[in-house]
Amino acid sequence: MTAAAHSEIREEVRKLCARFPGEYWRELDRARGYPTAFVQALTQAGYLSVLIPEEYGGAGLGLSAAAAILETIHAEGCNGAACHAQMYIMGTILRHGSAAQKRAYLPAIARGTLRLQAFGVTEPTSGTDTTSLRTFARRDGDRYIVNGQKIWTSRAEHSDLMLLLARTTPREQTAKRTEGLSTFIVDMRTALGHGLTVRPIRTMMNHNSCEVFFDNLEVPAGNLVGEEGRGFRYILDGMNAERLLIAAECIGDARWFTARSVAYANQRVLFGRPIGQNQGVQFPIARAYAQTRAAELLVREGCALFDAGAPCGEPANMAKLLAADASWAAAEACLQTHGGFGFAEEYDVERKYRETRLYQVAPISTNMILSYIAEHVLGLPRSY
Ligand SMILES: Cc1cc2nc3c(=O)[nH]c(=O)nc-3n(C[C@H](O)[C@H](O)[C@H](O)COP(=O)(O)OP(=O)(O)OC[C@H]3O[C@@H](n4cnc5c(N)ncnc54)[C@H](O)[C@@H]3O)c2cc1C
Repeated sequence: MTAAAHSEIREEVRKLCARFPGEYWRELDRARGYPTAFVQALTQAGYLSVLIPEEYGGAGLGLSAAAAILETIHAEGCNGAACHAQMYIMGTILRHGSAAQKRAYLPAIARGTLRLQAFGVTEPTSGTDTTSLRTFARRDGDRYIVNGQKIWTSRAEHSDLMLLLARTTPREQTAKRTEGLSTFIVDMRTALGHGLTVRPIRTMMNHNSCEVFFDNLEVPAGNLVGEEGRGFRYILDGMNAERLLIAAECIGDARWFTARSVAYANQRVLFGRPIGQNQGVQFPIARAYAQTRAAELLVREGCALFDAGAPCGEPANMAKLLAADASWAAAEACLQTHGGFGFAEEYDVERKYRETRLYQVAPISTNMILSYIAEHVLGLPRSY
């Protein structure tokens, strides 16, 4: 394996992760619990505020550093999904929020005393077709009245604030479907029980994702981020960062699976020789490793472009696609290499297998990335 960038950060994250072994994650998985101690450790070490500029109390590092942190967490068998959004959702406030909003929120997010890690975009009826979302925020004097529903709002029970995308102008009254959507900061601490209801969804893996209901929820007009009607653009702005960071997690998962595959294939002896001596066992592991290394290059390229302020839509999307494919290939090879033992909880393979499957679907599904590449990179006709 090549020498990785940010080696000191990686080493420190590795040490932190060693305090949270497989048994810790297995117990949480059984109970569908939230990894509070792990998230607190990351917060205290300052890893969740690396992207916040120094003037607001963060480390002011680039996306490549954040990617190194998340990749290492996953390569060590842990899972960053419980808190990765605390790293990047604040980017919408940083880029588009008012000076007052930045002062009010960013220092507390950097300290970890304020959690902004819930992101309400997806709705049950619109799904991927984001601009068809129905949650509506109606202006009424110095506040907005919000009605509607979100689904798959991850970490909603473990966040103080939610970044919400809602319609403020009916779709039929806008020239373009991407117009008339606005972004709000919802203070969930005061909203719960006063127009906001959160219901956890039990899922295939432990992800703390929820349904969220808005019933005449009042949101102060001062919580609108940027200009009314331009929210879709603000959300799109943050998506390249999210895709690159999730891709980094996939690279980490792929590394974990491959290390486990190699160790087991070397140690398991059948027919008088290690199973790893059989090319039928070697090749899927080797192929997944090659896929991982190729995807990793795109993650690095995307992060470098993002950090330089250059357009990075193409590498960010392709990195997410290929890294998710690599982690899935590595997961398949790992489960197969372990035979029946791969299905036993104590090996952690089945848990990580379930966890890494998500990335074919969320935060953006494979088809949507292929369609982005086809239309926006290659110039093929728009399909939807
Ligand atoms: C565990 C989990 C956590 C999540 N966390 C969040 C979160 O925190 N916040 C949030 O807002 N969302 C979240 N999501 C939602 C996630 O982003 C969506 O599930 C994902 O974008 C797909 O949307 P959908 O589930 O509505 O599927 P749909 O949009 O219904 O699509 C179903 C399938 O059809 C395919 N499809 C749809 N249209 C086309 C087309 N035109 N061409 C080709 N194929 C198409 C899709 O690729 C997909 O495979 C989460 C989802 C999960 C499962």
